[in-house]
Amino acid sequence: MLILVLNSGSSSIKYKFFDMREDSEKLLDKGLAERIGDKIPSHKEAVNFILNKAGSKIDAVGHRVVHGGDRFSKSVLIDDNVIKAIEDFIELAPLHNPPSLVTINESRKILSGIPHVAVFDTAFYYDMPEYAYFYAIPYKFYEKYKIRKYGFHGTSHRYVSEQATRLLNRPLNELRLITCHLGNGCSITAVKNGRAIDTSMGFTPLEGLVMGTRSGDLDPAIIPYIMEKESINVNAVVDMLNKKSGLLGVSGLTNDMRELMQERSKNKRVKLALDIFIYRIKKYIGAYAGVMSGCDAIIFTGGIGENNPGLIDEICKGVISKDTKTLVIPTDEELMIARDTYRIAVQM
Ligand code: ADP
Repeated sequence: MLILVLNSGSSSIKYKFFDMREDSEKLLDKGLAERIGDKIPSHKEAVNFILNKAGSKIDAVGHRVVHGGDRFSKSVLIDDNVIKAIEDFIELAPLHNPPSLVTINESRKILSGIPHVAVFDTAFYYDMPEYAYFYAIPYKFYEKYKIRKYGFHGTSHRYVSEQATRLLNRPLNELRLITCHLGNGCSITAVKNGRAIDTSMGFTPLEGLVMGTRSGDLDPAIIPYIMEKESINVNAVVDMLNKKSGLLGVSGLTNDMRELMQERSKNKRVKLALDIFIYRIKKYIGAYAGVMSGCDAIIFTGGIGENNPGLIDEICKGVISKDTKTLVIPTDEELMIARDTYRIAVQM
Protein backbone atom coordinates (compact mmCIF):
# COMPACT_ATOMS: atom_id res chain seq x y z
CA MET A 1 0.00 0.00 0.00
CA LEU A 2 1.48 3.35 -1.05
CA ILE A 3 1.09 5.86 1.75
CA LEU A 4 1.88 9.55 1.65
CA VAL A 5 2.53 11.26 4.99
CA LEU A 6 2.08 15.02 5.25
CA ASN A 7 3.46 16.87 8.25
CA SER A 8 2.36 20.51 8.01
CA GLY A 9 4.06 23.27 9.96
CA SER A 10 3.31 26.96 9.86
CA SER A 11 5.67 27.65 6.92
CA SER A 12 6.57 24.21 5.59
CA ILE A 13 5.19 20.77 4.79
CA LYS A 14 7.45 17.76 5.36
CA TYR A 15 6.45 14.68 3.42
CA LYS A 16 7.45 11.03 3.21
CA PHE A 17 6.17 8.46 0.78
CA PHE A 18 6.14 4.82 1.93
CA ASP A 19 5.40 1.40 0.52
CA MET A 20 3.81 -0.26 3.57
CA ARG A 21 3.09 -3.97 3.67
CA GLU A 22 2.22 -6.50 6.33
CA ASP A 23 5.86 -7.55 6.66
CA SER A 24 7.84 -4.56 5.37
CA GLU A 25 8.08 -0.77 5.49
CA LYS A 26 9.95 0.94 2.69
CA LEU A 27 10.63 4.66 2.35
CA LEU A 28 10.32 5.59 -1.34
CA ASP A 29 10.77 9.37 -1.24
CA LYS A 30 10.90 12.27 1.18
CA GLY A 31 11.18 16.02 1.01
CA LEU A 32 10.21 19.40 2.28
CA ALA A 33 8.12 22.13 0.71
CA GLU A 34 9.41 25.15 2.59
CA ARG A 35 9.15 28.92 2.73
CA ILE A 36 5.38 28.79 2.36
CA GLY A 37 4.10 32.36 2.28
CA ASP A 38 7.31 33.44 0.56
CA LYS A 39 8.69 31.13 -2.16
CA ILE A 40 5.49 29.03 -2.30
CA PRO A 41 2.36 31.24 -2.02
CA SER A 42 0.33 29.03 0.36
CA HIS A 43 -0.14 25.54 1.83
CA LYS A 44 -2.56 24.82 -1.02
CA GLU A 45 0.17 25.19 -3.67
CA ALA A 46 2.60 23.22 -1.49
CA VAL A 47 0.13 20.29 -1.30
CA ASN A 48 -0.32 20.36 -5.08
CA PHE A 49 3.45 20.35 -5.56
CA ILE A 50 3.90 17.33 -3.27
CA LEU A 51 0.98 15.38 -4.75
CA ASN A 52 2.34 15.94 -8.26
CA LYS A 53 5.71 14.64 -7.13
CA ALA A 54 4.24 11.55 -5.47
CA GLY A 55 2.30 10.73 -8.65
CA SER A 56 -1.12 9.22 -8.99
CA LYS A 57 -0.50 5.92 -7.24
CA ILE A 58 -1.33 6.95 -3.68
CA ASP A 59 -3.51 4.52 -1.70
CA ALA A 60 -3.88 6.51 1.53
CA VAL A 61 -2.69 9.74 3.14
CA GLY A 62 -1.62 10.21 6.77
CA HIS A 63 -1.75 13.70 8.23
CA ARG A 64 -0.04 14.97 11.35
CA VAL A 65 -2.36 17.10 13.46
CA VAL A 66 -0.89 18.85 16.49
CA HIS A 67 -4.00 19.36 18.62
CA GLY A 68 -6.80 16.85 19.01
CA GLY A 69 -7.76 18.36 22.37
CA ASP A 70 -9.48 15.85 24.66
CA ARG A 71 -11.43 14.20 21.84
CA PHE A 72 -9.03 11.74 20.20
CA SER A 73 -7.41 8.83 21.98
CA LYS A 74 -5.99 7.43 18.75
CA SER A 75 -5.55 8.05 15.05
CA VAL A 76 -8.79 8.24 13.06
CA LEU A 77 -10.15 8.14 9.54
CA ILE A 78 -10.91 11.73 8.56
CA ASP A 79 -14.53 12.64 7.91
CA ASP A 80 -16.46 15.89 8.26
CA ASN A 81 -16.86 15.42 12.03
CA VAL A 82 -13.11 15.05 12.46
CA ILE A 83 -12.55 18.21 10.41
CA LYS A 84 -15.03 20.05 12.63
CA ALA A 85 -13.20 18.86 15.77
CA ILE A 86 -9.81 20.02 14.42
CA GLU A 87 -11.45 23.38 13.68
CA ASP A 88 -12.81 23.52 17.23
CA PHE A 89 -9.28 23.15 18.62
CA ILE A 90 -7.82 26.01 16.54
CA GLU A 91 -8.26 28.20 19.61
CA LEU A 92 -5.85 25.92 21.52
CA ALA A 93 -3.31 25.61 18.65
CA PRO A 94 -3.63 28.78 16.56
CA LEU A 95 -0.29 28.29 14.78
CA HIS A 96 -0.56 24.58 14.11
CA ASN A 97 -4.10 23.40 13.41
CA PRO A 98 -4.93 25.92 10.61
CA PRO A 99 -2.12 24.78 8.24
CA SER A 100 -3.03 21.13 8.91
CA LEU A 101 -6.64 21.90 7.99
CA VAL A 102 -5.68 23.55 4.69
CA THR A 103 -3.44 20.57 3.87
CA ILE A 104 -6.13 18.04 4.78
CA ASN A 105 -8.90 19.85 2.90
CA GLU A 106 -6.81 20.34 -0.23
CA SER A 107 -5.51 16.76 -0.38
CA ARG A 108 -8.99 15.32 0.34
CA LYS A 109 -10.31 17.40 -2.56
CA ILE A 110 -7.64 16.15 -4.97
CA LEU A 111 -7.50 12.55 -3.69
CA SER A 112 -11.16 12.15 -2.85
CA GLY A 113 -11.55 8.40 -3.27
CA ILE A 114 -8.90 7.23 -0.79
CA PRO A 115 -8.66 7.12 3.02
CA HIS A 116 -7.14 10.10 4.81
CA VAL A 117 -6.07 9.54 8.41
CA ALA A 118 -5.39 12.09 11.16
CA VAL A 119 -2.62 11.29 13.65
CA PHE A 120 -2.72 13.61 16.67
CA ASP A 121 0.29 14.72 18.74
CA THR A 122 -1.99 14.85 21.76
CA ALA A 123 -3.57 11.38 21.41
CA PHE A 124 -0.79 9.54 23.25
CA TYR A 125 -1.72 11.56 26.37
CA TYR A 126 -5.45 10.90 26.23
CA ASP A 127 -5.19 8.31 28.99
CA MET A 128 -3.12 10.33 31.44
CA PRO A 129 -4.56 10.19 34.94
CA GLU A 130 -6.68 13.19 35.92
CA TYR A 131 -4.31 14.11 38.73
CA ALA A 132 -1.48 14.43 36.18
CA TYR A 133 -3.31 16.63 33.69
CA PHE A 134 -5.18 18.92 36.09
CA TYR A 135 -3.77 22.29 37.10
CA ALA A 136 -4.55 23.38 40.63
CA ILE A 137 -6.55 26.44 39.60
CA PRO A 138 -10.30 26.95 40.11
CA TYR A 139 -12.14 23.99 38.59
CA LYS A 140 -14.43 26.25 36.55
CA PHE A 141 -11.57 27.09 34.19
CA TYR A 142 -11.38 23.44 33.17
CA GLU A 143 -15.14 23.38 32.66
CA LYS A 144 -15.35 26.71 30.82
CA TYR A 145 -12.15 26.72 28.76
CA LYS A 146 -10.77 23.15 28.93
CA ILE A 147 -7.61 24.39 30.61
CA ARG A 148 -5.59 21.24 31.40
CA LYS A 149 -2.34 19.59 30.39
CA TYR A 150 -2.59 18.15 26.86
CA GLY A 151 1.02 17.20 26.08
CA PHE A 152 2.73 17.35 22.68
CA HIS A 153 5.31 15.43 20.58
CA GLY A 154 3.14 12.38 21.36
CA THR A 155 3.78 10.66 18.04
CA SER A 156 7.53 10.83 18.61
CA HIS A 157 7.31 9.58 22.21
CA ARG A 158 5.03 6.74 21.11
CA TYR A 159 7.34 5.80 18.23
CA VAL A 160 10.50 5.63 20.35
CA SER A 161 8.66 3.70 23.11
CA GLU A 162 7.63 1.07 20.57
CA GLN A 163 11.13 0.91 19.10
CA ALA A 164 12.55 0.53 22.62
CA THR A 165 10.52 -2.60 23.25
CA ARG A 166 12.06 -4.12 20.12
CA LEU A 167 15.57 -3.19 21.24
CA LEU A 168 15.01 -4.35 24.80
CA ASN A 169 13.13 -7.41 23.60
CA ARG A 170 10.52 -6.93 26.28
CA PRO A 171 6.80 -6.19 25.89
CA LEU A 172 5.69 -2.57 26.26
CA ASN A 173 3.17 -3.54 28.92
CA GLU A 174 5.97 -4.57 31.30
CA LEU A 175 8.18 -1.54 30.89
CA ARG A 176 8.64 1.74 32.71
CA LEU A 177 10.20 4.14 30.19
CA ILE A 178 11.20 7.78 30.29
CA THR A 179 11.34 9.22 26.78
CA CYS A 180 13.21 12.47 26.17
CA HIS A 181 12.51 14.28 22.89
CA LEU A 182 15.22 16.93 22.72
CA GLY A 183 15.10 19.06 19.58
CA ASN A 184 14.31 22.73 19.19
CA GLY A 185 11.26 21.91 21.24
CA CYS A 186 11.96 19.57 24.17
CA SER A 187 9.62 17.33 26.12
CA ILE A 188 9.87 14.35 28.41
CA THR A 189 7.25 11.66 28.99
CA ALA A 190 6.76 8.90 31.55
CA VAL A 191 5.49 5.78 29.78
CA LYS A 192 4.30 3.05 32.14
CA ASN A 193 3.17 -0.26 30.63
CA GLY A 194 2.76 1.42 27.24
CA ARG A 195 0.64 4.28 28.58
CA ALA A 196 1.84 7.88 28.85
CA ILE A 197 1.12 8.75 32.47
CA ASP A 198 2.72 12.20 32.55
CA THR A 199 4.53 14.60 30.26
CA SER A 200 6.36 17.90 30.63
CA MET A 201 4.57 20.02 28.01
CA GLY A 202 1.20 21.26 29.17
CA PHE A 203 -1.73 23.37 28.05
CA THR A 204 0.68 24.64 25.38
CA PRO A 205 4.18 23.51 24.32
CA LEU A 206 5.71 26.21 26.56
CA GLU A 207 5.72 24.24 29.82
CA GLY A 208 8.41 21.88 31.03
CA LEU A 209 12.00 21.56 29.91
CA VAL A 210 14.30 24.39 28.86
CA MET A 211 14.16 24.53 25.04
CA GLY A 212 15.96 26.32 22.21
CA THR A 213 14.00 29.55 22.63
CA ARG A 214 11.26 28.59 25.14
CA SER A 215 11.59 29.02 28.89
CA GLY A 216 9.81 25.90 30.05
CA ASP A 217 8.64 25.96 33.70
CA LEU A 218 8.65 29.22 35.59
CA ASP A 219 6.78 31.02 38.36
CA PRO A 220 3.73 32.58 36.63
CA ALA A 221 4.05 35.64 38.90
CA ILE A 222 7.10 36.62 36.82
CA ILE A 223 4.77 37.51 33.94
CA PRO A 224 2.86 40.44 35.50
CA TYR A 225 6.08 41.57 37.21
CA ILE A 226 7.93 41.92 33.89
CA MET A 227 4.87 43.51 32.27
CA GLU A 228 4.81 46.19 34.91
CA LYS A 229 8.56 46.83 35.08
CA GLU A 230 9.04 46.92 31.29
CA SER A 231 5.65 48.52 30.46
CA ILE A 232 4.85 45.79 27.95
CA ASN A 233 1.64 43.91 27.30
CA VAL A 234 0.92 40.23 27.84
CA ASN A 235 1.48 39.31 24.18
CA ALA A 236 5.00 40.73 24.34
CA VAL A 237 5.81 38.68 27.44
CA VAL A 238 4.40 35.47 25.97
CA ASP A 239 6.39 36.15 22.80
CA MET A 240 9.52 36.63 24.92
CA LEU A 241 8.88 33.32 26.73
CA ASN A 242 8.37 31.47 23.44
CA LYS A 243 10.97 33.04 21.18
CA LYS A 244 13.64 34.82 23.22
CA SER A 245 14.10 32.56 26.23
CA GLY A 246 15.51 29.08 26.81
CA LEU A 247 19.05 28.35 25.64
CA LEU A 248 19.04 31.48 23.48
CA GLY A 249 17.79 33.77 26.24
CA VAL A 250 20.23 32.64 28.92
CA SER A 251 23.29 32.28 26.67
CA GLY A 252 22.57 35.48 24.73
CA LEU A 253 24.25 33.70 21.83
CA THR A 254 22.20 31.05 20.05
CA ASN A 255 19.66 28.26 20.42
CA ASP A 256 21.80 25.90 18.33
CA MET A 257 23.18 23.08 20.47
CA ARG A 258 26.19 22.49 18.17
CA GLU A 259 27.41 26.05 18.64
CA LEU A 260 26.64 26.05 22.37
CA MET A 261 28.68 22.88 22.93
CA GLN A 262 31.65 24.48 21.17
CA GLU A 263 31.44 27.67 23.25
CA ARG A 264 30.73 26.02 26.57
CA SER A 265 34.23 26.09 28.00
CA LYS A 266 34.87 29.66 26.83
CA ASN A 267 31.64 31.45 27.68
CA LYS A 268 30.14 31.60 31.19
CA ARG A 269 26.60 32.29 30.08
CA VAL A 270 26.68 29.44 27.59
CA LYS A 271 27.86 27.18 30.42
CA LEU A 272 25.02 28.44 32.62
CA ALA A 273 22.42 27.87 29.88
CA LEU A 274 23.59 24.28 29.43
CA ASP A 275 23.76 23.68 33.18
CA ILE A 276 20.12 24.79 33.54
CA PHE A 277 19.10 22.69 30.52
CA ILE A 278 20.72 19.55 31.95
CA TYR A 279 19.55 20.16 35.52
CA ARG A 280 15.91 20.54 34.43
CA ILE A 281 16.03 17.23 32.54
CA LYS A 282 17.59 15.49 35.56
CA LYS A 283 14.80 16.80 37.78
CA TYR A 284 12.09 15.47 35.47
CA ILE A 285 13.80 12.09 35.16
CA GLY A 286 13.98 11.87 38.95
CA ALA A 287 10.32 12.83 39.29
CA TYR A 288 9.09 10.40 36.65
CA ALA A 289 11.21 7.53 38.01
CA GLY A 290 9.66 8.39 41.38
CA VAL A 291 6.03 8.20 40.22
CA MET A 292 6.70 4.96 38.30
CA SER A 293 8.61 3.41 41.25
CA GLY A 294 11.64 3.04 39.02
CA CYS A 295 12.60 3.16 35.38
CA ASP A 296 13.78 0.39 33.07
CA ALA A 297 15.12 2.62 30.29
CA ILE A 298 15.62 6.26 29.40
CA ILE A 299 15.33 7.00 25.71
CA PHE A 300 16.82 10.02 23.98
CA THR A 301 15.67 11.31 20.61
CA GLY A 302 15.42 14.52 18.53
CA GLY A 303 18.30 16.54 17.04
CA ILE A 304 19.95 17.09 20.44
CA GLY A 305 19.10 13.69 21.92
CA GLU A 306 20.39 11.78 18.90
CA ASN A 307 23.71 13.57 18.47
CA ASN A 308 25.23 14.40 21.84
CA PRO A 309 26.46 11.32 23.73
CA GLY A 310 28.50 13.46 26.14
CA LEU A 311 25.46 15.51 27.11
CA ILE A 312 23.40 12.37 27.67
CA ASP A 313 26.09 11.00 29.98
CA GLU A 314 25.93 14.22 31.99
CA ILE A 315 22.13 14.06 32.19
CA CYS A 316 22.11 10.45 33.35
CA LYS A 317 25.05 10.72 35.74
CA GLY A 318 23.87 10.17 39.29
CA VAL A 319 20.13 10.06 38.52
CA ILE A 320 19.66 6.54 37.28
CA SER A 321 20.28 3.21 38.95
CA LYS A 322 22.65 0.69 37.42
CA ASP A 323 19.69 -1.37 36.19
CA THR A 324 18.36 1.47 34.03
CA LYS A 325 19.35 1.28 30.38
CA THR A 326 20.05 4.35 28.26
CA LEU A 327 19.01 4.20 24.62
CA VAL A 328 19.39 6.64 21.73
CA ILE A 329 16.66 6.08 19.15
CA PRO A 330 16.26 8.32 16.09
CA THR A 331 12.66 9.47 15.95
CA ASP A 332 10.50 9.01 12.86
CA GLU A 333 7.12 10.60 13.34
CA GLU A 334 6.26 10.10 9.67
CA LEU A 335 6.84 6.34 9.89
CA MET A 336 4.59 6.18 12.95
CA ILE A 337 1.92 8.11 10.98
CA ALA A 338 2.36 5.72 8.03
CA ARG A 339 1.92 2.70 10.36
CA ASP A 340 -1.32 4.12 11.81
CA THR A 341 -2.58 5.03 8.34
CA TYR A 342 -1.82 1.55 7.05
CA ARG A 343 -3.54 -0.10 10.02
CA ILE A 344 -6.69 1.96 9.47
CA ALA A 345 -6.68 1.76 5.66
CA VAL A 346 -6.33 -2.06 5.45
CA GLN A 347 -9.45 -2.46 7.57
CA MET A 348 -11.57 -0.60 5.00
P1 ADP B 1 13.08 20.33 15.58
O1 ADP B 1 12.54 20.26 16.97
O2 ADP B 1 12.93 21.69 14.96
O3 ADP B 1 12.68 19.17 14.68
P2 ADP B 1 15.67 19.02 15.69
O4 ADP B 1 15.11 17.77 16.26
O5 ADP B 1 16.25 18.98 14.33
O6 ADP B 1 14.65 20.22 15.77
O7 ADP B 1 16.79 19.52 16.72
C1 ADP B 1 17.49 20.71 16.55
C2 ADP B 1 18.59 20.77 17.58
O8 ADP B 1 19.43 19.62 17.43
C3 ADP B 1 19.48 22.00 17.47
O9 ADP B 1 19.77 22.50 18.75
C4 ADP B 1 20.74 21.41 16.83
O10 ADP B 1 21.88 22.14 17.20
C5 ADP B 1 20.79 20.03 17.43
N1 ADP B 1 21.60 19.14 16.58
C6 ADP B 1 21.30 18.69 15.34
N2 ADP B 1 22.33 17.94 14.83
C7 ADP B 1 23.30 17.95 15.77
C8 ADP B 1 24.61 17.36 15.87
N3 ADP B 1 25.12 16.63 14.89
N4 ADP B 1 25.30 17.56 17.00
C9 ADP B 1 24.78 18.29 18.01
N5 ADP B 1 23.57 18.87 18.00
C10 ADP B 1 22.83 18.70 16.90
